Amino acid sequence: MNELIERMPAKLRRLPELAYNVWWSWNAEARELFRRLDFPLWRRTQHNPVKVLGLVSDQTLNARAEDAAYLRRFNKVMMAYDRAMSNGHSWFHVTYPHLTRKTIAYFSFEFGLHSSLPIYSGGLGILSGDHAKEASDLGLPFVGVGFLYPQGYFRQRLPSHGWQEAIYEPLDMNDVPILPVKRADGEDMCISVDMGGRTVKARIWRIQVGRVPLFLMDTDVPANDPWDRELSARLYSGDNEMRIRQELMLGVGGVRLLDELGYHPSVLHMNEGHSAFLLLESIRQEVNRGRNFEDACERVKARTVFTTHTPVPAGHDAFPFYLMDKYFHGFAEQLGISREQFLMLGHHAEPWGDAFNMTVLALRLSGQTNGVSQLHAEVSREMWQPVWPERPVAEVPIRAVTNGVHVPGWTAGEMRQVFIKYLGGDWEDHHDDPVLWERLAEVPDDELWHVHVTLKAKLKDYLRMRARRAWTEGQCDPTEALVGGTLLDPNALTIGFARRFATYKRATLLFTDMERLQRLMLDLHRPVQIIFAGKAHPADEPGKHLIQQVYNYAKLNQFGGRVAFVENYDMHTARYFTQGVDVWLNTPRRPREASGTSGMKATINGIPNLSILDGWWVEGYNGANGWAIDDGQFGSTEEQDYHDAQSLYHLLEEEIVPLYYNRDRDGIPRGWVEVMREAIRSNAPRFSTRRMVKEYTTE
Ligand SMILES: *Cc1c(COP(=O)(O)O)cnc(C)c1O
Repeated sequence: MNELIERMPAKLRRLPELAYNVWWSWNAEARELFRRLDFPLWRRTQHNPVKVLGLVSDQTLNARAEDAAYLRRFNKVMMAYDRAMSNGHSWFHVTYPHLTRKTIAYFSFEFGLHSSLPIYSGGLGILSGDHAKEASDLGLPFVGVGFLYPQGYFRQRLPSHGWQEAIYEPLDMNDVPILPVKRADGEDMCISVDMGGRTVKARIWRIQVGRVPLFLMDTDVPANDPWDRELSARLYSGDNEMRIRQELMLGVGGVRLLDELGYHPSVLHMNEGHSAFLLLESIRQEVNRGRNFEDACERVKARTVFTTHTPVPAGHDAFPFYLMDKYFHGFAEQLGISREQFLMLGHHAEPWGDAFNMTVLALRLSGQTNGVSQLHAEVSREMWQPVWPERPVAEVPIRAVTNGVHVPGWTAGEMRQVFIKYLGGDWEDHHDDPVLWERLAEVPDDELWHVHVTLKAKLKDYLRMRARRAWTEGQCDPTEALVGGTLLDPNALTIGFARRFATYKRATLLFTDMERLQRLMLDLHRPVQIIFAGKAHPADEPGKHLIQQVYNYAKLNQFGGRVAFVENYDMHTARYFTQGVDVWLNTPRRPREASGTSGMKATINGIPNLSILDGWWVEGYNGANGWAIDDGQFGSTEEQDYHDAQSLYHLLEEEIVPLYYNRDRDGIPRGWVEVMREAIRSNAPRFSTRRMVKEYTTE
């Protein structure tokens, strides 16, 4: 950062400071500043302020420094920034003035902050990132703990055969808003963890998220053996042994990192069981202070919160006992318990077999546990009841804190202008108040509709721009240009489906009856089209098959280019998708979708959901703000798939298509606009991380 500061003209001296705080990722005016600094660079760098500052010419910098309008803009943003960074009047400081010196530490395997930082894969990471951003907005004394993956999560490439290729690109630390944490003597700060007899070091990096810091560990340091240097190279790659070593680093290393930095957290929040080893390390610290094991457990319980994220059994890490013996050699003695007692902390025979289950460990030793929607909490209580054999299901202590999304970060700029105009310039400050949103009634139909049409055009432009760039650079063949969405119709009803390609999400449900779908798509007057995007986990072969299947459908002549698959879904693409389609489709096999968040992003931008009644939609759907795909439960999965597909077609044919194309003399679909308005009004205040983080904090 210092090099950047040195090359700034005096009047723009603080621009690097701004670039190095991802606050810009949810502040439209700050982004606008970088966009106006050098628009071609802004585009070329995929909206990356640090890279823009690294590449912009001196000439341009000097010109902006002499441009009165630019400087006015710059000074205004810096004032807003300084206000946002000061703590005094934040929600937390006003509500809990006596707790401001406490620390809430939040542990997560992944953090989704911006597409330039590929240290997230999907919903879990986006949730962590949104949680951190909201913690900043609310002024929580929050620190995040996770990994910096020098090769990140993969970039997805889809050649014309449709079989996903994973490309790992080393992250250049000079291109991203991340800085090494130094000790007083100027050396890199490191922590170390014993792993199976060897000591593994991790260096610590810092990302500033508004007011809150994120500390990320990275084991790629020369002092480590090659095998250990690879430990944090990539997100979600490697076998079970790699995984236990990563989780050891996250849980045990993370606690040491906080000690090293001088934090003494009053709350340790585990976002998913990946970090549950922090419980063992915390108990060990208590035992070292002279407490017995039971007392130590009680003390740790008093300060730990665990959020479980999935009802899919494979989503819960479990390690065979031999790996536990290898990596926790001598640990039981340090806790003052036997090896058997130690292993039983994470053991629960059915259906997991003899293994050490991270969720069981977290359930047993955390003070509070929650699922991520009402339905998910219910399903989790049933699923984990055997951990409390003496309790009936209803008394299993797993509550619900329904997920949300960071509203300022996911609202389109154009929609934001509407909110400013009709809800007031300070709408962001109290956007979790449902009363505020009643004012949406005052937005004229045509205004809401035209904002949507603009956003839809932006999505189409974006897809065309991507296809054209790949085409021009000789990186794609005609098939790929076609599948990338070049034949999409700017006026047709556009369905969006974008998320991780896990089989339970049933991306191909819409293709159950090809002829019926073809009729919908090729209707002369009322055509329907659909855009897909999403990565499959690199080891998920069925997921990759699904992608290939959809890809092949997109190539079929019979659909006339009305099916598109956009490669490399990330937060950047997610913004265009969740702001620019007409309907957001979600087809999980109930009740596997614990919450789902992409539909919430769509909803705040006036895009109604067409979704199975699963996850958050059970709470979000009110009969007038979107559509629920039939909720009937049907014995076998084949039957369920069949019935859900019938319901999906029926809704499209009988309700959605007619409503969308029913225009008045001005070309406005009045009925449709009412659904859009109701989607925003009813969902935006509730499915926001503001409501969610307040709930976590209050409870
Ligand atoms: C929001 C988001 C997700 C999560 O989508 P779900 O529908 O909740 O599974 C995944 N990937 C990206 C890039 C996102 O922005």
